[in-house]
Amino acid sequence: SASPLPADTSLLDRRRHVLGRHSPLFYDRPLHVRRAEGVWIEDTDGRRYLDVYNNVPHVGHCHPHVVEALCRQASQLNIHTRYLHEAVVEYAERLVATFDAPLSMAMLTCTGSEANELALRIARFVTGGQGIIVSSFSYHGNTAGLAAATTGLPAPEALAPHVRAVEIPDLTHWQGEPAALAARFAEQVADAVRSLQADGIRPAAMLFDTLFSTEGLPAVPKGALEQAVAIVRQAGGLFIADEVQPGLGRTGDHMWGYQAYDLVPDIVTMGKPLGNGHPLAGLVTRPDHVDAFGSKALYFNTFAGNPVSSAVGSAVLDVIEGEDLQGNARRVGAHIQAGLQRLASRHDLIASLRGRGLFFGLELMRDGRPAAGEARRLINDMRDRGVLISRIGPQDNILKMRPPMPFSIADADLLLSTLDSALSDL
Ligand code: PMP
Repeated sequence: SASPLPADTSLLDRRRHVLGRHSPLFYDRPLHVRRAEGVWIEDTDGRRYLDVYNNVPHVGHCHPHVVEALCRQASQLNIHTRYLHEAVVEYAERLVATFDAPLSMAMLTCTGSEANELALRIARFVTGGQGIIVSSFSYHGNTAGLAAATTGLPAPEALAPHVRAVEIPDLTHWQGEPAALAARFAEQVADAVRSLQADGIRPAAMLFDTLFSTEGLPAVPKGALEQAVAIVRQAGGLFIADEVQPGLGRTGDHMWGYQAYDLVPDIVTMGKPLGNGHPLAGLVTRPDHVDAFGSKALYFNTFAGNPVSSAVGSAVLDVIEGEDLQGNARRVGAHIQAGLQRLASRHDLIASLRGRGLFFGLELMRDGRPAAGEARRLINDMRDRGVLISRIGPQDNILKMRPPMPFSIADADLLLSTLDSALSDL
């Protein structure tokens, strides 16, 4: 395999010194990056890497249309958000138009964490409850409230007394009937509701990533999520769909991950890809929920939805539509699934294929055990071969691939052939 030049150790040392040694960095030999374009990232030695990991540069790194919109608005006016300005109204109108009724009002934030925190506050106002149900391996943000509901990455803090976790059903290695697994999940959700109630806590919300990204992209039985949501609603709680990772056309078949199910969430939260790297996030919900919250509480966010952020958000939507990136995710995603299938037939290490559209994974197992060490080596080896991927899941053995949306068939073929060689040489 190729052997790139050593990482810039002096910058690494300075980083450790000023940011601390726990500030996370990818790879055994961290990548020192300089510029990027489309699906390619260039390091300081001028070497190019195929980006099969980053969903923040959703419409492609440094997309000229987005950069131009950002620069144009930044040179005209940027200001906090309590003045009248077209850009935020236009962006919010375009954003809510991509959702199903009755999700017709938006509240903007700067991060996914803020969006989820705000969604939980709204759920508490609307329901009068405090209880939260999450999945048993999930991440929704870095605030105090969300850290007390984090069951997955990184090391979980103590769960708050008002939080219950349920295990997301996965058909991948399930031998029985799908309906039986769905029923088992429904029973767990009902147990979580009863357990909250037994402690005198009314459920406020169930908060799930609709693709279960952190959980490792499980194959959820048909109807299981719908049943769980019905149970929570029956008990007075809301369903909050976290679309920070699945959203904005990535799954190919749908604009939003929840649209693969037969339901409409009460609140949808969004983040990472909305601003193509510019901090733009938010939620959409029903007007009556916005009113119920707004009549009692003030929500003000200095930066969220400022003219520059809104111009950027609209430019991202322009590119998604103009370049048919959702269609691209569907077409290239199908090509990738077929390619991964061929890899699985050649490499015993691959235990299952996951995901859809431009969000996909490979589960690695050796002798019936999760192959986390192999996954780690493979990711580092792929980096040395010039392809950037990562891993996820409770066992850290699922390769995580989620490239910028203009990922082409040729890019996919390069990924597949590189994976094939790296797996052969492992
Ligand atoms: N929800 C999910 C599903 C996420 O993956 C993340 C970020 N990894 C967040 C919320 C938090 O978003 P942010 O980092 O923008 O606060």
